[in-house]
Amino acid sequence: MNSLSFATVKQLREQLKNKTISIEELLDFFINRFAAYDGELGAALEIFDKEWILKNSTLSGPLQGIPGLIKNNIAIEEQLLTCGSRMLKDFRSPYDATVIARLKAQGGAIIGRANLDEFAMGSSTETSYFQKTKNPWDLSRVPGGSSGGSAAAVAAGLVPWALGSDTGGSVRQPAAFCGIVGMKPTYGHVSRYGLVHYASSLDQIGVFSRSVYDSAFIFSLMAGKDEHDSSTLQVKSKDYTQKLDGTLPKGLKIGIVDNTLCAEGMDPEVVLAIENGMKEFEKLGATIHHVTLPAIDYSAAAYFVLSRAEAASNLARFDGVRYGFRNKQASTLRAMYDETRHDGFGAEVKKRIIVGNYVLSSGHSGEFYDNAQKVKRLIRSQFVEAFKEVDVLLMPTHPAPAFKLGAFDLDPLQIDLQDYFTCPMNLAGIPAISIPCGMSKDGMPIGFQIAAPHLAEELMFKVADAYEQATPWQGMHPKGY
Ligand code: GLN
Repeated sequence: MNSLSFATVKQLREQLKNKTISIEELLDFFINRFAAYDGELGAALEIFDKEWILKNSTLSGPLQGIPGLIKNNIAIEEQLLTCGSRMLKDFRSPYDATVIARLKAQGGAIIGRANLDEFAMGSSTETSYFQKTKNPWDLSRVPGGSSGGSAAAVAAGLVPWALGSDTGGSVRQPAAFCGIVGMKPTYGHVSRYGLVHYASSLDQIGVFSRSVYDSAFIFSLMAGKDEHDSSTLQVKSKDYTQKLDGTLPKGLKIGIVDNTLCAEGMDPEVVLAIENGMKEFEKLGATIHHVTLPAIDYSAAAYFVLSRAEAASNLARFDGVRYGFRNKQASTLRAMYDETRHDGFGAEVKKRIIVGNYVLSSGHSGEFYDNAQKVKRLIRSQFVEAFKEVDVLLMPTHPAPAFKLGAFDLDPLQIDLQDYFTCPMNLAGIPAISIPCGMSKDGMPIGFQIAAPHLAEELMFKVADAYEQATPWQGMHPKGY
């Protein structure tokens, strides 16, 4: 049975098809894995009752009852939707997010809820109101964030796939920290209906998996136009696994973004892993081209301003009137708003609301918000120019492997810099996938990302799959699970 723990979705589908295991046995197996290992890991906030799981999936179709864990900011009908916040501690969703409805309809068994940074704001899963999630490779380290619970659970073999959301890197960075695959789609390729907004112009739901094939497989099941989300693009659904045969397209040109490798604070081990990756791609037949994207150096600052501005307006709805928590002691309406927001939000969220309102305030918006929008446009156009020269871009996912819990408590600016390599793709609205590409001397996984042009997910998966099949990183998993 232990071979099931780290099996891919593809392998599990085979086993179900051959009837070497039943859907119920598979579900029991993963429910028991959470019971056995998640006490110390803290990846899940909740594992659902078995009857509910079985009742709330067709258990047939492509996913055939294979369980997945869902970040707790994606709506699942009847279930708690806490966003890792005291504000929504007891809030139950009245409907399914589009991705959940689509996955349930295609046989996905929704096993439970993954921990996250409060309202998806963070890079370490330490800002959750409920618990801190640990990295299964080293329990003294963070799993990354904000979708750290989803990443840790897949990495520890507690579940074969999971969903997260990526506004500035929250799928790709934890995937890299935990040694698994994490993808963020083109903005508008996956519906945001039922995803609790953080920064709506940047948010996308993405997939965690053990292999690029599984990533493409799950993505295929949830992508495409949705009448509930007017920002979704008019794209026909298709099977993104079709072209995955371990080869690179002929004559592929890969751009290595030079200014990312010499960025301040880059860990030499991460640089080395990427240089080795380039050699591997050359062996596979690609040519490497050096490109510079100077605007990347401003992207973390622009992301900082835009994400806080959007968060401040999106979170204005949590005032004790309609959703979730309310301070009941307050004697006036105004006091009720103030006290509810004071008690309901954690420190990180409050800090972002204050910054967001400041950058939007009259007299300051030109200096901050308008300039950040200009940088966003500049980044977009530099990506467009780069993709005239090369087919895909190769970049680090993170400057250094997973850091220790609490490492940046006294230096919060450092944690914001975690977004340095991931948020440019959110600003540009293009797809990117982080895949394992090495191991540090102290045994922590390293990842890099492949970014592709707008709607070029098929190419992105193909390039990542060829690399994965040619290298040993996919088979690695943490000891003790
Ligand atoms: N670390 C980033 C932030 O805190 C990214 C979060 C995300 O993608 N949800 O804003």
